[in-house]
Amino acid sequence: MQVAVLGGETDFDGWRKAARAFRLAGVTPERAAFRVGAGGDGLFDESLPAVTGEAPFSVPKAFVDLAQEVILHRAGDRFDLLYRLLWRLGTEPDLMKVSTDVDVAAALERAKNVSRASHKMKAFVRFRQVEDETGERCVAWFEPAHRVLERTAPFFMRRFTSMRWSILTPDGSASWEDGALAFGPPATRDMAPSEDEIEEFWKTYYASTFNPARLKTRTMQGEMPRRYWKNLPEAALIPELVARSSVRTEAMVAAPAPEPNARLARTLSRLNRDHAFEEGFVPSTLDELDQAVQACRRCPLWRDATQGVCGEGPRKAKLMIVGEQPGDQEDLAGHPFVGPAGRVLDAALEEARIDREDVFVTNAVKHFKHEPRGKRRLHKTPNTAEVSACRWWLNAERRLVRPRVIVTLGATAALGVLGRKVAVTKERGRGIDLGDGAKALLTVHPSYLLRIPDAAARAGERDRFVADLTQARALL
Ligand code: SF4
Repeated sequence: MQVAVLGGETDFDGWRKAARAFRLAGVTPERAAFRVGAGGDGLFDESLPAVTGEAPFSVPKAFVDLAQEVILHRAGDRFDLLYRLLWRLGTEPDLMKVSTDVDVAAALERAKNVSRASHKMKAFVRFRQVEDETGERCVAWFEPAHRVLERTAPFFMRRFTSMRWSILTPDGSASWEDGALAFGPPATRDMAPSEDEIEEFWKTYYASTFNPARLKTRTMQGEMPRRYWKNLPEAALIPELVARSSVRTEAMVAAPAPEPNARLARTLSRLNRDHAFEEGFVPSTLDELDQAVQACRRCPLWRDATQGVCGEGPRKAKLMIVGEQPGDQEDLAGHPFVGPAGRVLDAALEEARIDREDVFVTNAVKHFKHEPRGKRRLHKTPNTAEVSACRWWLNAERRLVRPRVIVTLGATAALGVLGRKVAVTKERGRGIDLGDGAKALLTVHPSYLLRIPDAAARAGERDRFVADLTQARALL
């Protein structure tokens, strides 16, 4: 047996160096082993045969990308699995395209687990405020399902640029200070503070946004697995809120419809309510567009909505994603894709290696169309006239952002972008020229995935959805 010692559990460069040497020396997967040890930086066994003189080899980029993810998985055999794939690529150059192959499938599954762990870390890290000798610092303790700290830390760097923060995990720590991201040794739970004022903020926020009428305990635990609860301040409230949900639901049903929020009231008083924007008004910024949407009366949907919800994302995003309309949570929050479908979209984007922060997300229709049904505000699909009326705003967003690729989620979004009714299943998966240099790519809406009852069918459809997003990335 030939053994290579790696410098750490996520030492991809060390593994690559060792695996390359193994393969050049003709060491079969059965005779190759990897272990993590102090001072490890390459091959351990002195008797490794000399390089055979085989020409330097290359591997598909898809393998390298996959390997960088798989190595973050906690499975003890991940180094061996990757070397087996590397070895087989020597005689099976198209191996990575065979997703049904047992080794490829295992690697893909692990990469998916790693991606999910990173997504959960973004969602469930909770900072607590402390004072040190140089001032305020935010510190979080987190236990990721896989070793995703270094992969995920840049997300927090971009999100919390102006904060000084540290994230402590059993695998290592990350700190952002003076514009530099640094990684340090593993930490223990007791090194992080447990309570502060922010704790109360999270609890208050969660209690106020918890909607008992939409409670589905199993779905909630799927999105917020119990393993993360112990470090979430708001999780302490869940049992009580669930127990009280039926009482609160009755109270919600009895309560009058919510008043338009303060933001809408301010906007209405500032803007001319008599369709000022209709007479040659063309928004020149996204802010202006957002304000004008609050005063729009082009169709009746504004009457029952809390506010208009416009698109969000970089002003010059290359990729725009268009959904149908804001849902119940988006209508209340004033932001697109913050509800369950948004979380499905976030996870799929992550798997497709698209940074959500690089994407402009919006909807074909800006106000929430719904009808009261017992305890709930039930989503209603906007009709063609409403989509056509709101297309004016969608086109204005397109003019301002000028994306290269527009992904439409579902038939309503496709109607809004293309201006014609289409069968998404027929036109799905091919770039459609939009005449302004941009291409549209049609796919399903993530809420469709949430409604598929059969788990296997749902997983298959989800994979197709991720594949569509991956194709959009390729079109860019
Ligand atoms: Fe105007 Fe669109 Fe709202 Fe209708 S849905 S009122 S067109 S912004």
